[in-house]
Amino acid sequence: MSLIDCPECQKEISEQAKSCPNCGYPIPVKKTKYELECERQSTRNAGINAFFGAAIGLLILLGVIIFVLIAIGSFILRLTF
Ligand SMILES: [Zn+2]
Repeated sequence: MSLIDCPECQKEISEQAKSCPNCGYPIPVKKTKYELECERQSTRNAGINAFFGAAIGLLILLGVIIFVLIAIGSFILRLTF
């Protein structure tokens, strides 16, 4: 555990502290490389999920349209024959 200087009152405070115990200045949480990588990964995954979600939605829509067209087609065939 190391100490950092409070940006507000310049007192030495724990870098683990969420806010300065002296002046109450909120200490911005330093993100580790791992946390940043995780965040980037999750946003990338969210993008991929959105893409696949849209693709699957489109496929389902296409399936419904084809099903309806086949149903209408067979209905018309039944009427004509
Ligand atoms: Zn302070």
